[in-house]
Amino acid sequence: MDMINVKINGVAYAVEKGATVLEAAKAAHIDIPTLCYLKDINEIGACRLCLVEVAEMRGPALGPWRMVTACVYPCTEGMEIKTNTPKIAAFRKMNLELLLSNHNQDCLSCVRSTNCELQTLCREYGVNSSSFVGEVTKHEIDDASPIIRDNSKCVLCRRCVATCARIQEIGVIGAKNRGFDTSIGSAFAARLADTSCINCGQCIVACPVGALYERDDTDKVLEAIADPSKHTVICTAPSVRAQIGECFGYEPGTDCEGKMVAALKALGFDGVYDMNLTADLTIVEEANELIGRIQNNGALPMITSCSPGWIKYCEHYFPEFVDNLSTCKSPQQMFGAIVKTYYAQKMGWDPKDIVMVSAIPCTAKKFEVGRDGQAAAGVPDVDFAITTREVGRMIQKAGINFRALDDAKFDDPFAIGSGAGAIFGATGGVMEAALRYAAEKILGKKLEKVDFTEVRGTEGIKTASYKLGDLTVNVAVASSTGMAKKLLNMVKNGELDVQFIEIMGCPGGCVNGGGQPIQPAKVRMNMDLRAVRAAVLYKDDAEETLRTSQDNLAVQVLYDEFLGAPNSHKAHEILHTTYVKRGLYNN
Ligand code: SF4
Ligand code: SF4
Ligand code: SF4
Repeated sequence: MDMINVKINGVAYAVEKGATVLEAAKAAHIDIPTLCYLKDINEIGACRLCLVEVAEMRGPALGPWRMVTACVYPCTEGMEIKTNTPKIAAFRKMNLELLLSNHNQDCLSCVRSTNCELQTLCREYGVNSSSFVGEVTKHEIDDASPIIRDNSKCVLCRRCVATCARIQEIGVIGAKNRGFDTSIGSAFAARLADTSCINCGQCIVACPVGALYERDDTDKVLEAIADPSKHTVICTAPSVRAQIGECFGYEPGTDCEGKMVAALKALGFDGVYDMNLTADLTIVEEANELIGRIQNNGALPMITSCSPGWIKYCEHYFPEFVDNLSTCKSPQQMFGAIVKTYYAQKMGWDPKDIVMVSAIPCTAKKFEVGRDGQAAAGVPDVDFAITTREVGRMIQKAGINFRALDDAKFDDPFAIGSGAGAIFGATGGVMEAALRYAAEKILGKKLEKVDFTEVRGTEGIKTASYKLGDLTVNVAVASSTGMAKKLLNMVKNGELDVQFIEIMGCPGGCVNGGGQPIQPAKVRMNMDLRAVRAAVLYKDDAEETLRTSQDNLAVQVLYDEFLGAPNSHKAHEILHTTYVKRGLYNN
């Protein structure tokens, strides 16, 4: 690695050639404030908060001191850098005041208060109002979809635009107009609901302020809990337990399953269940569907269907692959379907009196609950899908001291989930869980080793090939719709021959979903959240004695008592669904 020598605040450092001033400072453990910067996604030097002073070598001597933006300015040999002079502080303060001059400062009730990068910077620089007073731009809130935009709080950093265009490769939002009239939105002033937005929420987790947030369904959930005529139950997705702690100050990568269950019980839910169970059920249904398609010349490659953001992306952008989608409902929807059919029957409850809530890492699941073909008992399988962030807010609002809670356990009869179900939350997890099932079924014997490590990791696209008896199974995994696009084009062009594909709409899978706790750019710059959060789930799996979906006794009971066999007629009625070939203009 080529290195060059620089001085930062008078101290000498060797830094990688080509590093920006921001990267050099990070290596020297010095923070430079940023607002528009998001590592590897948005590096445009627009907000001018990372201003620093530099002097570069001009021949044998140091040239004049100049002000530059650290996030885009490259280090040069012999460069001297000052990151924190009174002049720099004054400029940063003025830039914050300029931002505030056109900003709706309702911090008291803002959803991002205490987790807002603008608010943090204003506090650090002692800015609580703007000396620039004048006309302000007027904006309407776009709340027609689960992704809500309030441009009165937008700082025009374009992190959302870059994420939607460069990571998800969707590009339904952009900057409109110029100068004072600039705003972020969709073409022809369309509401997000009227575009081919997939509701992934990746723009929300990229936004440094409260300009983007999910529709909040927590009041409706609390009303249901308070209604004695309703059976209000909740199931929690695998990755929620691995991230909910971040809402309460725990480091990313802290498993808080026991406290999460205890908090949900304290909120008053009539049942707190583990969605790992229906992750297992999904695997049994999906792996049998795959084996059936391979044996009966069905549509291949078969593609997983757990991620509703990915499903909507496929329907809009790759309708020619809709028949390749597994017809299995997602684990969330399977859970609701089972509770409102099997469990309702068992308990003598009217499905109309059950309020099924799911706690999920995903904003697209708010769209999924309203899709056609998701009502096994004649009423919606799931009534409310609430994000990890919403769960955190409900617990805070109820005054429950999360950190002080003793661990509690999920409620029967939906308390058992395997390690295979747990790893659903990480990219490659569904594939690995399915391989554990398919390998045993095809080989007709128990596996000695159930780890398929080739499909683990945070790379955008992974491929692997497995010899199972006489059968060779080629598989591929993609996470983010940008990577899905690349992978599907490889399949279309004949560059990749696989039978089974796992696609997750968010980069890294559910652990990095659009409904997860938001970490500021400063944290995201220093840590690969996808890997740190996924490690919790792989640790859970490694420590489980039950590691395969087929050995989950609760799943076996469901088949014995209710569904019959995997992929049976009844299983299809309750656990499977259909999709729409939307194209770009059918939302
Ligand atoms: S976006 Fe930040 S600064 Fe603006 S109102 Fe919300 S918390 Fe306050
Ligand atoms: S939700 Fe996803 S698709 Fe929609 S605007 Fe945001 S990033 Fe783009
Ligand atoms: S909505 Fe948020 S991420 Fe997008 S430009 Fe505005 S402040 Fe930046």
